[in-house]
Amino acid sequence: MKPLLKLKGVHSFYGKIHALNDINLEIYEGEIVALLGSNGAGKSTTLKTISGIIKPKEGTIEWEGENLVGTPAHKIVEKGIIHIPEGRRIFGGLTVTENLELGAFTVRKNKKQIKEGIERAFDLFPRLKERAKQTAGTLSGGEQQMLAISRGLMSQPKLLMLDEPSMGLAPIIVQEIMKIIKEINKQGTTILLIEQNAKAALKLANRGYVIETSKIIMHEEANVLRADDKIIKAYLGA
Ligand code: ATP
Repeated sequence: MKPLLKLKGVHSFYGKIHALNDINLEIYEGEIVALLGSNGAGKSTTLKTISGIIKPKEGTIEWEGENLVGTPAHKIVEKGIIHIPEGRRIFGGLTVTENLELGAFTVRKNKKQIKEGIERAFDLFPRLKERAKQTAGTLSGGEQQMLAISRGLMSQPKLLMLDEPSMGLAPIIVQEIMKIIKEINKQGTTILLIEQNAKAALKLANRGYVIETSKIIMHEEANVLRADDKIIKAYLGA
């Protein structure tokens, strides 16, 4: 089977800072892949490079066999890759429904499709349905994260990339978000997940990549990573 996404020898820079150094990573259709690593390792930069926010200096990013390097970010969205950045960038002054409508604009062209997308979001997140007319800025942190994910799903991505969806949320809400990520995956969306909460991420994921100071140092099945001494010490807090 061919991977859906394949990064080969990717190098990304911020000025002179070599933020990604020879990244090789593959994601197969249907997988949940976790990207682990400490602060500043290069996790967010990996997502930004895939989604076209940063152009790599070297290497290729193959998506369904086509090299994405140089493709503008909005075109990458149209190809089916959605990046939900850290920090839930929703429109606080707009209602929940308006935020979802905005998420649809690149792909869903007619009202019926938009309505179906919103219904799907409300099925996944009933809490959002109850708050459909509420302005997004007044939602709790967990609800804002749910809205950010739902908005990303409005364009029916094949690959959903999530940057620390559990950041700053209470454990019970984290569990809820993780359950829904699993459900989104079951419904057919491939997931690339960055998580500080490595325990939760490795419970959910099929495989994981570990990135340290701009390099991938390990990639394995999630259950192998969960049992690895170095991973336990560094990321699972034992
Ligand atoms: P965190 O969890 O702290 O966000 P990360 O693994 O996502 O960590 P990145 O944000 O990818 O790390 O950062 C990788 C490196 O690039 C770090 O050394 C960081 O300081 C640097 N970096 C990130 N963004 C910029 C930027 N806009 N300008 C300059 N350097 C940056």
